[in-house]
Amino acid sequence: MWNMALSLSLVTIASAIAIMMWIMTIARKSGTLIYFAISFSLLSISFALFNTQGFLHPFFGIVLANFLMILSYMFLAWGTRVFYQIRPVLPFRFYVYVVSAVVILSLFTFLFYSYKVRAVTASTCIAIFSTESIFTLIKAGFVSKQIRFKLPIIIIISLFIIFHIVRIIVMIISSDIGSYFMEIHPYTTATFLATQFFTILWAELILLADMEDLLGKVEKKRDQLASIAFNDQLTGINNRYALEGFLDQELERQDRYLEPLSFILFDIDHFKQINDKWGHSAGDEVLINVAHTAQKNLRLTDRIFRWGGEEFLIVCPHTVINGAADFAQKLRHLLSVIDFSESKILPKKFSGITASFGVIERFPGEARNDCFRRVDEAMYFAKKNGRNRVELDRNGKEKKGLINIEWLEEWDSGISQIDQEHRELVQKGNRLMNLAVIQSKKELLCEAMSSLQTYIIKHFRNEEEILKAIKYDKLDEHKRIHKHLEEEARILYEKLEKDPAVSIEIFHFLADQIIVGHLIDYDSDFFPIARGKASDAVLTSKE
Ligand code: GH3
Ligand code: MG
Ligand code: MG
Repeated sequence: MWNMALSLSLVTIASAIAIMMWIMTIARKSGTLIYFAISFSLLSISFALFNTQGFLHPFFGIVLANFLMILSYMFLAWGTRVFYQIRPVLPFRFYVYVVSAVVILSLFTFLFYSYKVRAVTASTCIAIFSTESIFTLIKAGFVSKQIRFKLPIIIIISLFIIFHIVRIIVMIISSDIGSYFMEIHPYTTATFLATQFFTILWAELILLADMEDLLGKVEKKRDQLASIAFNDQLTGINNRYALEGFLDQELERQDRYLEPLSFILFDIDHFKQINDKWGHSAGDEVLINVAHTAQKNLRLTDRIFRWGGEEFLIVCPHTVINGAADFAQKLRHLLSVIDFSESKILPKKFSGITASFGVIERFPGEARNDCFRRVDEAMYFAKKNGRNRVELDRNGKEKKGLINIEWLEEWDSGISQIDQEHRELVQKGNRLMNLAVIQSKKELLCEAMSSLQTYIIKHFRNEEEILKAIKYDKLDEHKRIHKHLEEEARILYEKLEKDPAVSIEIFHFLADQIIVGHLIDYDSDFFPIARGKASDAVLTSKE
């Protein structure tokens, strides 16, 4: 009864897995999972048949039961070959394994009854088919490919093979192995338990491999879709859709850090004539060459996009207008010397192309459509002024009235740490005032204010330390002024959090209190002492 219970539980497990595999086969419309569904169905029938030993003819309980079990492992190996597209999917040797097994099983059931030979035969066949599965995986490049579940798959199948090899050895060397499979015996019990364990693992391996396959397909599809969505099919460079995503990032970065950002728009001159004279494919070839030449010569941070027809837009982060204009001139020259002599479509007399360029620098906060309009206008001027030239629109910044408080030499105290910190303070102040001018987002304003506030406190403490060290006599009064300014900064931050439209107060605080008040009026009071100390220090170091 004990073995029958184990055998029936194996029937239950294998049937449950078989049902799941059939469901998946239908749901996934998979031509591969069906092999595994059949395999587990055969396994469950074979273990049901083992239970008929003693009731039905030995053909059913022994020969057919063993044959179906071996067949079920053949289906696993077969399915694996189909899964990894290894040809032939059912090699001739598979038939040899199965036929030899059936002959041996029949002989040693009906002619020379030997449970030992049958058990060894069954385990040998299972080990061979499992080795065939590993062999298929290796042949399919499974070992070299980037596969997530590679190691567990190989380890589990190897353990299964080892289990059967151990079983074969034990069967051969042991004198007491019982006289039939369903007999109650420690070896058969161990075999049942191990078979249950590995049956479940096999099913999981198949699902893992299927999942791996599915993930791979999804990733590939995603990459293909991204490539179609973001790249221009003719030239292979990014299209306008990709530009949108890229600009979201770059505009945000510029608004946050107030770094320069420039745009170059160029349009091939008299391009229509190329199409008209030599056909559309000649025009296409020119477009491809132009795109590649521009792409090849970009800096790593620059990006080119096909803007439309024969117009291309280049976005140059961290670049001021003059830098972008220099690059546009270089590109104008490079395009004019593209060699089309190797072309099979364009005639020999085709002398090449020129293009007209518009260049602008975006000012922080400028709407993207305004940038596009300005760069388009600049390009239009290049066309109007004779083509094959670069035109700049420098007016953007001035029009918007951006602020830049430049550092004056007379603000140098002579103590390098203080000067460095003062410069940083002016820089942070410039940023905050510009963010207020362009009516930037509240979070950005608050972040800039908070960063300035933290910096002011840090700087005041450092300055007080230094003033103490140089024995500045009005240190206490100076500390009081610092405290007052810190308090003002705190109040301003709170106001800003409630209502970001307090730009006038930001100006007043930065320009009047911090720059004029703190730096020019109060700090300059200790500059003579500081400068004296600094020159003393220079003298001492020289001595
Ligand atoms: P201009 O110097 O003023 O720029 O003159 P143009 O002839 O270059 O300008 P126009 O805008 O009149 O012509 C652009 C032509 O580009 C018209 C259009 O048929 C062609 N075109 C747009 N996209 C493609 C394309 O993908 N392949 C080809 N071959 N031609 C294209
Ligand atoms: Mg054109
Ligand atoms: Mg055009």
